[in-house]
Formats: sequence, C-alpha cells, structure tokens
Amino acid sequence: SKDDKATLLSAVKLVCEAYFDLLDSPKSDDARIARDYLAERGIDDQQRRTFQIGFSPDSWDFATGLLERNKFRPEIGPAAGVALQRRGGGSYDLFRGRLMFPIHDAQGKPISMGGRVIPPIAARHGDKAGGKYINGPETKLFRKSQQLYALDKSRDAIRKAGQALVMEGYTDVIAAHQAGIEPAVAVLGTALGEGHVKLLKRWTDRVVLVLDGDAAGRRRADEVLELFVKADADLRVLTLPEGMDPADYLAKYGAAAMESLIGEAPDALEHKLTSLTDGIDVTNDTHQVMSAIGTMTSILARAPKLDPLKQDQIMLRLSRTFGIGKERLEDSLEQKR
Ligand code: ATP
Ligand code: MN
Ligand code: MN
Ligand code: MN
Repeated sequence: SKDDKATLLSAVKLVCEAYFDLLDSPKSDDARIARDYLAERGIDDQQRRTFQIGFSPDSWDFATGLLERNKFRPEIGPAAGVALQRRGGGSYDLFRGRLMFPIHDAQGKPISMGGRVIPPIAARHGDKAGGKYINGPETKLFRKSQQLYALDKSRDAIRKAGQALVMEGYTDVIAAHQAGIEPAVAVLGTALGEGHVKLLKRWTDRVVLVLDGDAAGRRRADEVLELFVKADADLRVLTLPEGMDPADYLAKYGAAAMESLIGEAPDALEHKLTSLTDGIDVTNDTHQVMSAIGTMTSILARAPKLDPLKQDQIMLRLSRTFGIGKERLEDSLEQKR
C-alpha cells in the first residue's frame, strides 16, 4: 500500500543520511579510512556530495538501532533492504564497514543502496568480509529490472545529449560525471533489459552500453543482441579494452578519448556480426558461416513479435555480411519459428 511505501522511503532516507554524515565524522577512525579510500579512488568532494556517498560502520546494529530509536517497527529494516532477519527473531545490519552508494529513483528519492568493501577494514574479518559489493535486495521500492543508478542526476543530460550511456558500476558513473560526461547511468548488478530501455525512452531512444573489458562485460555484449531485436531503441555497444572499465579508462586516457570511443560504438547487430565473423573467412569457411547464421537466426526466431521492417533490415544486413540471399535467410528463419 501507499502507506507502506512512504514508511519504507523514510526508513531508507534516514539510513542513507546517517551513512552520509558518518563518512564526514572527525571522531571515527574508520570513517577516516573510508575517506582515504575514496581519495585513493580519485573521487572528489563534489562527487561525494552529488552522489551522497556514505560509510556504514563496522557494526551489526548501527542502522537497526537507528531505525528502532526512530520508532520504526522491527520488520522495517529487512523490508527496506538495509537489514537481514535473524533466525531467532530480530535483525542485523546488512552493510558493515562499507563505502555506501545510495540508489535514487528518477525523482531523486533514495530507494536502496549498494556497499563496497574497504580493503583495510575488510582485512580485519579475513575471508568473512563478504563479496566486493553488496547490493540492496529487491524490495517494494527497489526493482533492479526497472531502475538505473544515477538516473535522477543524468536525465537532463541524457535528453540534451540525445543518448544515454549505460555502464556496469557505481564508480564508473561517478568517474564519468567527474570527467564531465553526464548522461551516464548504471545497471544495478543485472543485465540491461526491456524495463530499463522503456524507462530511458522517456528521455532518449539511443542507448550506448559501455561495458567493462572483462569476461562479464564481454558476456553481456554478446547477449545484448536479444534485447536489440526486441527493444524499440537504437542500442549500441562498446566493450572497453582488456582489463579496463569506464573509470579505469577515464583515469588513463581522459574524457575526450572516451567520448570518441562512444561516438564510434557500433549498434548491437553490427557488434554481434563482427564478433561472429571475427577470424573466419566469410567466402570460404562454409561450416563456420553456417554456424554463425544459425546463431543469428535462432536469436531472431526467439523474438516474439519482431517488427517486420526491422526484420527486413536485419535480414538485409545478414545477407550482405555472409553473401547469402535474403530470401534463403528468411526461409531458414521461418523454419526455426
Ligand atoms: P570497483 O572499481 O570498485 O572495483 P566496479 O564497478 O568496477 O567496482 P565490477 O567488478 O566491474 O566492479 O562489477 C560491476 C558491478 O557489478 C558493481 O558495481 C556491482 O554493482 C556488481 N558487483 C560486482 N561484484 C559484486 C559482488 N561480489 N556481489 C554483488 N555485486 C557485485
Ligand atoms: Mn566488471
Ligand atoms: Mn572499477
Ligand atoms: Mn568494473
């Protein structure tokens, strides 16, 4: 109900603000360690404020106690995605000793958060420190398939630029904004999906997916054609050089180099065709060509209601790439359907 949501919103807000204030605390040694880590990452003070970056203390009951003192019901911590239910009853903090990135909805209200390990603090807990990132769970407020990190701060820039850059990490978006590249958002530990494209279409219909140059990034690039086929958007893909993500790339080469890579990003179909035909001789490797065509037609066959004009366009491009008649390709697609 509406009431529920309002309560959850005020709980998330309370905790985010407390984490934000704590990062500045002169009294906490751990907060200083967190500030040093942020500085080491090259994130400046303006970005810290813009993105409301905070610090969750290395404690089991900081957020939980805060909610309790503010008269929230005990179930609120887990329902708001900031605490976990204890087996014997009660709850404990989900984020402990982490750098905190609040997640806001498109209107700028905090709805969840993600927390990153701070190496010197995590070292105290050995291998029990948990994963590098903990992302808030799905709640009544937070749906990962429908929300994008920093959309509230990027929406005007997205409209102005006529395109949205979708990255993989909080720190990539922050580095982009710091470098003056403002139409940047991130998916929240999930793949870009139809829900995200639908959301972005309020501001633009051109989306450039800017992926890390690692195995996960390449996998996402490889899978994005499925979305390209279904989604009504100009979907482009950029995979950064091996071992680099947008934050790394910006630190090493700067904003102008990044902008020019983005400007050259191929659409998802071209990206897939290039990766499928990479290293094969299209005029001589019959077996490889057949298998590449099989891959493409299978993806197309899985798309429920593909726009006929779009299908025609895609068939034409496949036909050119592989030197095979468009009608033959269409027959093979029909057989698969
Ligand atoms: P950093 O630069 O701080 O190491 P990153 O954003 O480059 O962070 P990646 O490893 O590239 O981190 O992961 C991209 C995104 O995937 C993260 O921002 C986070 O949302 C999610 N992620 C990464 N590692 C984990 C993990 N262990 N558990 C849950 N989510 C994770
Ligand atoms: Mn990565
Ligand atoms: Mn990174
Ligand atoms: Mn990364």
